[in-house]
Amino acid sequence: MSTVTIMDASYENCHEAIERIFNLFPLDLEGKKVVIKPNVLRSATPEEGVTTHPAVLKAVVNEVVKRRPASLIVGDNPGVFSYGMNEKAFEDTGLMEAAGIYYRNLGAETVAMDIDSSYIEHALISRAILDADVYISVPKFKTHGLTGLSCAIKNNFGLLAGALKAETHKRAGNPFNFAEAMVEVFAIRIPDLVIVDGVLAMEGNGPASKDLVNLGKIMAGDDSVALDTVVAHMMGFPDLPRTIELAAARGYGISELSRINIIGALEVIPGFKLPQMDSRALTSVITTMNSITAVRPWVDKELCSLCGTCIEHCPNEALTMDEYPVVSPELCITCFCCQELCPQKAIELK
Ligand code: SF4
Ligand code: SF4
Repeated sequence: MSTVTIMDASYENCHEAIERIFNLFPLDLEGKKVVIKPNVLRSATPEEGVTTHPAVLKAVVNEVVKRRPASLIVGDNPGVFSYGMNEKAFEDTGLMEAAGIYYRNLGAETVAMDIDSSYIEHALISRAILDADVYISVPKFKTHGLTGLSCAIKNNFGLLAGALKAETHKRAGNPFNFAEAMVEVFAIRIPDLVIVDGVLAMEGNGPASKDLVNLGKIMAGDDSVALDTVVAHMMGFPDLPRTIELAAARGYGISELSRINIIGALEVIPGFKLPQMDSRALTSVITTMNSITAVRPWVDKELCSLCGTCIEHCPNEALTMDEYPVVSPELCITCFCCQELCPQKAIELK
């Protein structure tokens, strides 16, 4: 039986919920090496709901520091190609101030590992996370056009060094395979505790959608699969997204609601908008059908600032600059890195 807690909270009082979470899931942190990883997708303001809110991160940091760890590192690996955006992303999101003296660029020092994967031969993984005695993941409650949702399992994709994320998208080639790659990365270092920022949640075509929901929840658990299962249920998925099913089938956690002890009210969010692409419905047939069936990124000319970020970060060179960025359907592998990283939220999925 796994336990997931769902608590009412605002950004002003979330420290109270987080204090309760550390009592509910007690961790022996004294003298231990601890890493906290928020979801820092890219530079964004906290109000955009794209990244973990700084109030939540700050409350988690404070609870850990109280327990006198030997060391504490707070960081992430934003972006898909490089680490250049790390400090800027932390500054812009307010997370640098929340991390304080504990901030570290997780991409600055990596370890080469062989992992059991069809899509990644040699993984470059953040050394800090591999060395940690205790790893705390602090994702956002968001939808994701590629994987259905972005929460506990997806936050671990940030274990991969920047360029390797793009390479993994390219090698997977479609959402069905990418779900498997994501679970393989998740398994490299499963978090000991996951605390979800669901105060301001994201619906629609996440993970960088304009559609936000004032959900007012902080959730937590020590089983990432159970936590994602509960989040998927709240979002109203008719079937569990493939990442959750795969992770459960491989023994990384529990995905049956009947075997999850839920503390708090579990309700489907009324009218919650799911992403247009349901990853469970996609099969490997997509590889051949890709160019005619899949949802595609589409640039809103009114919002595009012609910054070129989407072109720079497309792992399959499917975007070119004409008057505005243009997608080649035959090259697009529907990874949605462009949509994730567009600073103007100018890319929609159609
Ligand atoms: S990243 Fe966004 S704003 Fe920049 S060129 Fe691409 S669509 Fe335009
Ligand atoms: S155009 Fe966008 S969705 Fe398509 S492959 Fe490039 S980054 Fe991925």
